[in-house]
Parts: sequence; C-alpha cells; structure tokens
Amino acid sequence: MALIVQKFGGTSVADLDRIRAVAARVKAAVDEGNQVAVVLSAMAGITDQLAALVSDMAPIHDTREYDTVVSTGEQVTAGLLAIALQTLGVTARSWLGWQIPLRTDGVHGGARIEQIAVTELHRRLGRGEVPVVAGFQGIGPLGRITTIGRGGTDTTAVALAAALGAERCDIYTDVEGVFTSDPRIVAKARKLNKITYEEMLEMASVGAKVLQTRSVAMAMKHRVPLQVLSSFSDNPGTMVVDEDEIVEQELVSGIAYARDEAKITVVKVADRPGVAATLFGPLSDAGINVDMIVQNVSDDGKSTDITFTVAQNQLEQSIAALEAARSKLEFERLVADPNVVKVSVIGVGMHSHAGVASTMFATLADKGINIQVISTSEIKISVLIAEEYTELAVRSLHTAYGLDDD
Ligand code: ASP
Ligand code: MG
Repeated sequence: MALIVQKFGGTSVADLDRIRAVAARVKAAVDEGNQVAVVLSAMAGITDQLAALVSDMAPIHDTREYDTVVSTGEQVTAGLLAIALQTLGVTARSWLGWQIPLRTDGVHGGARIEQIAVTELHRRLGRGEVPVVAGFQGIGPLGRITTIGRGGTDTTAVALAAALGAERCDIYTDVEGVFTSDPRIVAKARKLNKITYEEMLEMASVGAKVLQTRSVAMAMKHRVPLQVLSSFSDNPGTMVVDEDEIVEQELVSGIAYARDEAKITVVKVADRPGVAATLFGPLSDAGINVDMIVQNVSDDGKSTDITFTVAQNQLEQSIAALEAARSKLEFERLVADPNVVKVSVIGVGMHSHAGVASTMFATLADKGINIQVISTSEIKISVLIAEEYTELAVRSLHTAYGLDDD
C-alpha cells in the first residue's frame, strides 16, 4: 500500500465524461489498496477565460481580485470530481486552498507555497477517503485567496506530495510522458523512461512545456519521485528521478527549443570597466530577466557591441529601459530582433564527456545555420539562431546525438 498524489491537468478534466474517466482511474488506484490524494486543474481553457474577464473589466486591476476570480476554475473541477467519485462509491471530499489550509506568501498572482497542513488530510486518507484538492490556489498572510502562477497546479501537487510524504506524485497530462524532443516537430522523438531532476529542470526552463519549472525544482529539492503520464492511455510514463537511479545514462537526453526569446544588440557602447553593470542595472531594476549574453571584442579599443536576449514579451519594455538610461550608457543605437529561437541540448552525461558542444556546432554548421549567441551550463548547451531554422536545427541535432527512434 502506498500513498500517491495524482494530478490531472486541464485537458484531463475538460468535460464531465473526462472527469468521470478520472474518477474511474482514481478508484482503480484506491481499489489496489493505495491512499490517494488528487490535485486538479481547471477545465482546459477556463483559466484563460477568467483571466480575460478580469482584463476586460480593467486592464490594470487589483491582483487580489484577479486571484478571487481566476482561482474559481479549480473549485468547479474539485467539486465535480468529488461527486463523480462518490457516485462510484468512493468516499471523497473537495478541498480549497483556504480549507486545508495551504499557506502562501502574499504575492498575488504569483504566490509561493509556504506551508501545507496535513494532519487532517492524513487522518482522512487513513480511513480510505480521497481528498480532492483544488490546484493553483492558497491562502495568503491576510487571509485572502492567492494563486501561485499559471500552470501552478503541478507545483501544488508536488508540494502536497512532499508535505504528505507521498511515495510518488503522478502528473497526468495529455502526452505520454517526457520526450527527447517536441514530437510535433520531430517525428522520430521518443518517450524517455527516466530522466533526472536536473535534466527535467533544464528542459522545463528552456521550453519543454510538460511540467511547470517550479514544480520540478520543488520535486528535486524534496526528492519527490515524479511520474509524467497520459490520462488517455494506460502506458507507463516518464519517471523523473535522481541521477543514481539511472543505470544507462545517455550522453544527451533531449533537445528543447524556446521561440519566446528576443535579441537586443547594443551597438558601439563604450568599452570600459563598469559598462555591463550600467547596461544590465536598468534592466534588472525594471524586473527584466536577461538570459544569454555575448560581448564582442572591440576593434578600436574604445567601443564594443553587447548582445543579449530577453523574453519576447519584455522586448519593448527592455528597449524603453535602455533608452531611458541612454545618457549614462553612451551607445550608438539599439537593434532588436524578435525572430530568434534558443535551441538547447541537455544531458547530465555531458559533464563527464568531451565533444558534446563540438557535435552541436558541427551539425549546425553543416546545415548552414549561423549561431548568434552561445551559453552553457554543466548539463546544457544553448545556442541562439534565426527562428526560421527551428525545425531544421532541432531535427538535425536529434539525429546527430543518436536520439531518433527507429
Ligand atoms: N488552471 C491554472 C492555469 O491554467 C493552473 C494549472 O492548470 O496548472 O494556469
Ligand atoms: Mg499545465
């Protein structure tokens, strides 16, 4: 007998029939003798609709009231699943964030989970009851409803699994697991049986959309075994685990890409100590996250070009922040390019192997794809290229690292 947390995403609870199917799946796990706690998203599309209602009412609004509105989608699915379970003869009860309580900080719209009270949930699990927890929401320090950021139900599920001391957290979604690359553009992508937390974290942060990045970081911190699997099939999914649980580690586990990057080049900025600080200070003050950076060598010893990337939706704001700091910065001009994509090769195997980067560069060169910026971490190499080459680059790299399914 195990204690399992099962999380179902929006497509898995998109209508009443799907909620009934989820109930049957939960019942099966209960019938096998497990204690099961469920965490749910809102029906697919509902949170977007609720957020649009808020913006339509007032583009600039009180985020406490935004949370009051957008948190309601999960209230509906939690109640409906509890009813569906009861109909199947399973004892079940819905739980909203404030009822547990699941305590967060007071950052409305993007709160952090601080503490989850589990005594009552444990008591009920112990007598065979299924708690059905509304994901994405909590209660802030002043007693108001908070939400924890879009896609946050993954994080609710992992946090609950950690707090309950669950054996496993199963994340049910509409894909079969974590793939070596996006199956929509790489027909030969294959499902990974296992992937390390570190790799999953990198994959999530550079564009793989299966899991919210924060949920992976939390699972890694608390060593919660995660499984990503489909609620539309009975196939085993992908286990996200510690590195030492993977016997035959591949050199590279996946190729990810992120189109939502934009490039800014600051042309002819004075080449002297402190220039990077003066350049990036105004951006960080504006809450803008700079990702990849390259500073070109200066020809004349006086000025240089600095290129970096920001999230595409922060491009205009970034330009405005730099223009505002122009008097201090002394540059010739800014060149913005939103038509770029960041392609990343990820694998824990690369920290003990040479040649992973050169394979990447040679593969892209062979296809005539120009690399604009490079950045690396211990288990990831990312390059920035023109967006039009996304498919070609991702497919060629997938082949080059021997990831193709045969
Ligand atoms: N319903 C919320 C959203 O769409 C939370 C989630 O589904 O994870 O962002
Ligand atoms: Mg999601």
